[in-house]
Amino acid sequence: MYANVLVELKSKNITGTYTYKIKEKCFVGCRVLVEFGKQKLEGFVLEITDLKPECEVKEIIEVIDKNPVLNKELLELGKYISNTTLCSLISAYECMLPTALKAKNGTNVNKKEVKYLILNNDIEQALKKCKNKNQITIVNLIDSCKKLEKKEALLISSSSTNTLLKNKVIKEVLEEVYRYNKEVKNNSKKMHLTDEQENAFNEINKSLNNYNTFLLHGITGSGKTEVYMQIIEEVINNGKEAIMLVPEISLTPQFVNKFISRFDKNVAILHSGLSNGEKYDEWRKIERKEVKIVIGTRSAIFAPLTNIGIIIIDEEHSDTYKQDNVPRYNAKDIANFRAKYYNCPLVLGSATPDLIDLAKARKGLYTLIEMKNRVGRAKLPQCYIVDMASEMKKRNPIISELLQEKIQDRLNKKEQIILLLNRRGFSTFISCSSCGYVFKCPHCDITLTYHKSSNMLRCHYCNYAIYKKDNCPNCNNEDLTFLGLGTEKLEKEISKKFPDANIVRMDTDTTSRKGMHEKIIEDFQQQKYDILLGTQMISKGLDFPNVTLVGVINADTTLNIPDFKANQRTFELLYQTSGRAGRSDKSGEVIIQTFNPDNYTIKCVVENNFEKFYQYEMGIRKKLKYPPYYYLVNLKIASKDYEVASKESIKVANYLKNNLDDNTIILGPSTAAVFKTNNVYRFQIIIKYRKDEKLFSVLSDLQNIFNTNNKVNLEIDINPSRI
Ligand code: ADP
Ligand code: ZN
Repeated sequence: MYANVLVELKSKNITGTYTYKIKEKCFVGCRVLVEFGKQKLEGFVLEITDLKPECEVKEIIEVIDKNPVLNKELLELGKYISNTTLCSLISAYECMLPTALKAKNGTNVNKKEVKYLILNNDIEQALKKCKNKNQITIVNLIDSCKKLEKKEALLISSSSTNTLLKNKVIKEVLEEVYRYNKEVKNNSKKMHLTDEQENAFNEINKSLNNYNTFLLHGITGSGKTEVYMQIIEEVINNGKEAIMLVPEISLTPQFVNKFISRFDKNVAILHSGLSNGEKYDEWRKIERKEVKIVIGTRSAIFAPLTNIGIIIIDEEHSDTYKQDNVPRYNAKDIANFRAKYYNCPLVLGSATPDLIDLAKARKGLYTLIEMKNRVGRAKLPQCYIVDMASEMKKRNPIISELLQEKIQDRLNKKEQIILLLNRRGFSTFISCSSCGYVFKCPHCDITLTYHKSSNMLRCHYCNYAIYKKDNCPNCNNEDLTFLGLGTEKLEKEISKKFPDANIVRMDTDTTSRKGMHEKIIEDFQQQKYDILLGTQMISKGLDFPNVTLVGVINADTTLNIPDFKANQRTFELLYQTSGRAGRSDKSGEVIIQTFNPDNYTIKCVVENNFEKFYQYEMGIRKKLKYPPYYYLVNLKIASKDYEVASKESIKVANYLKNNLDDNTIILGPSTAAVFKTNNVYRFQIIIKYRKDEKLFSVLSDLQNIFNTNNKVNLEIDINPSRI
């Protein structure tokens, strides 16, 4: 028998299948170790055949897996990813597996095993053989709890333990333990559904055995989570399994806790915050069919379930579902593939659905379900705009009069406050007031941000950092101005204005240690703090009944980024953040500070009018030929050599113009939004098309040409989430 094995030689850009002779038992989907040239490589078995190859072939050195790590469905899924994102087949398979199971050398993640002691015979016999008090204690202890961790016996007496082992009174057994164990205290009870929730539940429940995509458009606080949980319960009762995707687990601990407290040991968690060992354990729980529900971030969509009954994607508009590096897949597409394969529903839920998905739902491609009211007596908050230009004249550059007043009012009433500022650090811009010199990263084309706590200037792209300078490096002038507001400065300003308030800041700087997110959220929930301030981290999925005021310090940060989704992102961020206010019977207020008080997107947020925003934005997308009216492909041509990058990008653009359909629009080359990062220059070309049959083959030809060029890199992003 022979096996066709998929291997990868990264250094030489070789990927392909090669035939090897099988000597021991092996299946399609197993990893094997093979000789390739002078190297030993791991690869995946894609095919087994008894057809004798024409030339002499080597034997497989070793079969790594007893059981396949990739089943038939996942093998097919890999081909789909490779074809639709134009990545190599092996990188598609590798992204589907936890690090411990990737066909790569040098990673070594093992199962965690614990040594236990058990009795060799019954207790009477064991006691007869005991020579002293310690031995008797150990033997009795083992008997009373059936098995005892060896560690504990050694603590009592290591010599007695060893004697008992030597005399065969007791013996050692190895047992595998799972590293990740999340305990949740409070119990989340099944709730009686509201009419809107029940309607949503029934719609999905009707087609549990059909492939169908639902868009659950429910405003913040409408109780989507409860609908998810009850429908999943139904799926489990039917003997099937569920995948539940969330944008970022550390940002949504309350959501995950609800699931664990309701479904307990039936849940496996997969996300990037886990160690490789923890991920491996969770993966095996799934593979061994010990759990029915997988909750996780993007890559959890590859969970090795084999009887999927539903896939739910919460906050479906989130950019985190799209992977930024190769393979550039979107978890929504993968979910669609798997739902079709298992003939089950796919549910996309959001308060601010992606325009592309809403358009599909309105065209009838998806089933639209709406939940327009908050649960119980909670009402949507009242929203106010503050024009910061006039506040500047009043010398209130950071906190407006109105916001200051409202904060004081809530502090008096012992209610809580959330403040959003989507920029971390202290100042985002340091320049010399004499010569205009601006501190920039030498590797990236962006300004350095001043971090006061560490007294450093940092690049937020590559983490380059230097100590703060007192003089301008250009003219030696000592008068440096610190411009741009970051969360660190905001915190300082707030504590100056409200010295008695307890304030906590949440951004990547304060949450870099494991578990810090959860701690801050928990403490805030227990009202240890009056004010929570932070970046967009605080906008998602948090449910604090005592928060009655939300302040957006500068609504313009996302608006001014040149990107086709800038308006949508601004709307999402402001709307979702506003949604944190007034989630119980206490009503809430939102104050949005902006330099663009007439901006249409901001006005729609203030009116709480998603529909108005949708109509407006769809008009813009149509006029400018953006999705959902046109599809996009973003090509980046990257090189350490500026000249090379520039010349090659012109060649690529010409190649596309000569080979693609006449109706396809090719824009560029132009410099990418962040032109230089880590000393690499990037040019970009944008393709807009409605239908172009040649597109994939043309792109794939281009990619093959560049694969052999080690001076330039071609990055192809199909359906990018930003350009
Ligand atoms: P969403 O995810 O749609 O923003 P949540 O699922 O967080 O909303 O629900 C908002 C609040 O309403 C939560 O505190 C939740 O516990 C509560 N809730 C949800 N459904 C019900 C129900 N049927 N009865 C009572 N309270 C509910
Ligand atoms: Zn940098």
